[in-house]
This record gives sequence, structure tokens and C-alpha cells, in this order.
Amino acid sequence: MSSRRVRVRFAPSPTGPLHMGGVRTALYSYLFAKKHGGDFLLRIEDTDQNRFVPGAEDYIIASLKWCGISPNEGVGFGDGPHAPYRQSERKALYRQYAEQLERDGYAYLAFDTPEEMEALRKEAEANKQNFAYDATTRTNLRNSLTMSSEEVAAAIASGEHYVIRLKVPQNEEIAFTDLIRGEVSFRSHVVDDKVLLKGDGMPTYHLAHIVDDYLMEITHAIRGEEWLPSAPAHILIYRYLGWENAMPQYAHLPLLLKPDGNGKLSKRDGDRLGFPVFPMDWNDPSSGELSSGYKERGYYPEAFVNMLAFLGWNPGTEQEIFTLEELAQAFHIEQIQHAGAKFDPEKAKWFNEQHLRRRSASVIAASIRGELAKTYGMAADDARLQETYLVKAVELLQPRVQFEHEMIAVGAYLFEAPSAYDEAVIAKKWKANYRPLFERLAAEWETQAATTEDTLKAWFESQCAAHGIKPGEVLQLLRVLVSGQGGGVDLFGMLVLLGAATCASRLHKALELELLKGE
Ligand code: GLU
Repeated sequence: MSSRRVRVRFAPSPTGPLHMGGVRTALYSYLFAKKHGGDFLLRIEDTDQNRFVPGAEDYIIASLKWCGISPNEGVGFGDGPHAPYRQSERKALYRQYAEQLERDGYAYLAFDTPEEMEALRKEAEANKQNFAYDATTRTNLRNSLTMSSEEVAAAIASGEHYVIRLKVPQNEEIAFTDLIRGEVSFRSHVVDDKVLLKGDGMPTYHLAHIVDDYLMEITHAIRGEEWLPSAPAHILIYRYLGWENAMPQYAHLPLLLKPDGNGKLSKRDGDRLGFPVFPMDWNDPSSGELSSGYKERGYYPEAFVNMLAFLGWNPGTEQEIFTLEELAQAFHIEQIQHAGAKFDPEKAKWFNEQHLRRRSASVIAASIRGELAKTYGMAADDARLQETYLVKAVELLQPRVQFEHEMIAVGAYLFEAPSAYDEAVIAKKWKANYRPLFERLAAEWETQAATTEDTLKAWFESQCAAHGIKPGEVLQLLRVLVSGQGGGVDLFGMLVLLGAATCASRLHKALELELLKGE
């Protein structure tokens, strides 16, 4: 096995939008493949026609693209040597393996109708039990183990509905090594006789993923914990097909848990607590309902992916902020925790904030320029939209927001004169004897020569000293009179950026305020 080229697949079913837990599975699979210089591929498992949702496949592909998790083979990413990668297009392939298992005595034909099965389930339920088609019940049911070969032939000839089931031995130990959980073992009596091939000729997940993982030379199958109970059946299928040596190593990922309380993170938790559970907006084709996505909320894909990576894994160091490439370097599948990972929506925002702080201000400037121009009615050649001004504005705002789009509103005073002032701050701080100082500042701002934060500060302090006022008493007032707000970006950085003419005119205007006329 170790000599084989590492090949990992992400194998979602197009039954709806990809949940963030699904993206995490894709991410871990991708990171593992990259870490080992291997291949990562996307296979669409669409054998359950009843659960097919139009648009889901495109959504999966678009989400992976947005995240930068790019398969080197598979649906939507260019075919590779094992095309097709959509199971519905591989339908003809699977039957032979189910039949091989049947011929070899490891599977059998079951003719029980869906109605009969339903009745058995109901009956068991009435006795507070679960019906299982297994070694204890199959001997009393209508299948090729209890029927004569003539009866079986006749049933097939008359077109009776049948499925092919795995014949699970009654009392055997089935063990395997899970990459995350280590040694795992099951008694076979807990495993039911899984359907391998359905009445419509489509394989179930159990058969299809094994045939495909085998044919696609998959070395590692990383999937959700919900598949762990089925793993022993999968081990048996590999064994019975004679493929045990080529069996991929399984890794079962821990669940994503609700932020509050216990249980699996669901869309309802997101609706209830106001965070997305999907990577991108999803428009449900049947209900028309819109579910919001991280992308549209303004998350950077690298922040989303960084946050997801830490839901169940950490590198064992203090470092938390990683690019996708860095994650691939640092990733060790053995470091994935066994226990479920609690999702923290505040931490998700924090990851975005951290990535925003590390992002080039010039890249952010380019990204918000259009929206800024629109919001503040600036023409394309407006000086405030040019590189020198805008990059500096972004640098001032970078430590103060979690999302790029927040800069537009948070930084309003960098783009237009205030129309309102924080009156509470003024009422609390203003003293009539400050007026001469502020009048002097307004009058002389344009003629003073300071062009840096330090020289401007020195000039301001000398003005304060000349009026016998401590700078600390009036700093916040200066901020309010120029920006309208009691808090905000670095004060002298803002004043230098706005420029002398703007500062002077804003001060003149503010000094007209009624609030500043009295005591
Ligand atoms: N189609 C399965 C699912 O969506 C894939 C599980 C696996 O990765 O093997 O859950």
C-alpha cells in the first residue's frame, strides 16, 4: 500500500447544497492528498434517484472552486483516466460485481417486496425493536437462500422485483485500522445484510463506492463518522471481492456540533443563531427558500477554509492562521480529534478578521473601490479613490473591521464630511474655554506645514500648550469635530490622510454647532 501513489476522493451525493461539514471533508481529503504529493478527485455519487436535487452538483463544484479546493480529476474539473466520475454514468459497471459475490456465495437475491419489508419494519416497531435483514431473519424470508433454484429462476423470469444483498456471517469479528480512531472492531451480528444492488439496477452506496474506489485506485477514503457503522460491511465486501490488499485506508471524521448544547450542527442552528452553514448562497429549487452562504456574507475563502480546518484538527503549535498551501504542509491526519468539534460562529468571524489584517491593502482597495464610489457618489477620477489615498484609508480601517464590506460604512468620515456629531461625547467633554484653541486650529491648519503624523501631532501639542490646555483633554473632541464620531481609526493618521484643507473646513463647520456655542 505505501508504495502506491496517494489518491483521495471526495464523493458527495447531489442531494442538496454542500453543508460546511461536507466542505470540511473535502478539505481534509484535499490536504491529505497535497501533503503526500498525491491526487485528489471529485466523484459524484448520484445513485439514489429519489434524493437527486437539481443544481446540487453545480453547487458542489462552484463551492469547491470558491474554496480553492481543486480536484485534479473529476466531474467539473476535467476528466482524468477513470472517467466517467458520475456514478449514474457508471451504472452498467456495478452489476457484475454484485453477481460475482452472489456466485461466490457472499450475496443473495432477495425477492421481498417493498410492502413486505415495510410490514416487517412496522411489526418490529410495534415490539419496540428494529427490523434487520440479517443472519437471524434471512432464513425466514423470500430469498435465494430459502428458495429452490427453480423458484428463483421462475421469479426472475416473471419479472419479480429483487435486490442483491450482502450475506453477512453470523458471528465473526471484523476489525480494521481507522486512520483517526486506530484499531476498530465490530461483531458481525451488528451488521445487517446490506442491499448491494437495488431493484432498479442501481447500486447502493455500499457497493458503488467500493467498486469505484477500487477501480479509481483510491488509497485513502476520508468520510463522515456517520459511515462508521457501515464500515464492517465494507470490509467484508472488499474481502469477498478479493480486493483486500487494495482496500483504501478509511478515516472517519468527527461530527460538527452545534455552538450551544449537543448534537449535530444543522441548518436550523444557523437560522436560529444567525450564521451560514453553507459555503455559498443556496436557492432551494423546490421551496424557493434562500439559505445564506459564507461567500455572500463577505468571508474570504481562505478564512473560511482556515476556520474549517480547525474544526477538529490543529497543528499542535500556537499558529492558527494558515493559507491553504500552509495547511497542506502542516496537516497530519493523525492529529484529527476523535470527539465532535463544536462550531463557534464568533471564531469564524475572527478568522476572517485575521486574514483581512494580513491581506494587501492595495488588493482590498481595488476590491471595495467600486462600492465606495457608488456609496459616496465619487467620480472615478476622485482623488480619494486613487491608490495613494485609498490604500492609506484601507490601512487605517484594517484593524477595525472583520469584513471588507464593513469598511465602507465604518470609514464614512474618510470619504464625506460628517452630517451628525456624537453629541454625548461633546456634552461630556466640551468646555467653553476650549473654543479659542479650536478656532486657532481651524484658522491655522492650512498654513501649518506638517505632513506626517508626528509633525502634525507636535504642531497640535504646541497649540494646546499655547492655550494652557493639556492635549489629552481635547483629543477626543478634535476627533468628534472632524469625523463626527467619538471613536475610530488612528486619529493623527486620519488627520494626515484627510489633509489640511479638509480638516480646516470640517473644524470651521463644526464650530458653528449650537452645542459648541454655550457652556
Ligand atoms: N456519497 C457519500 C456521502 O455523501 C460519500 C461517503 C464517502 O465519502 O464515502 O455521504
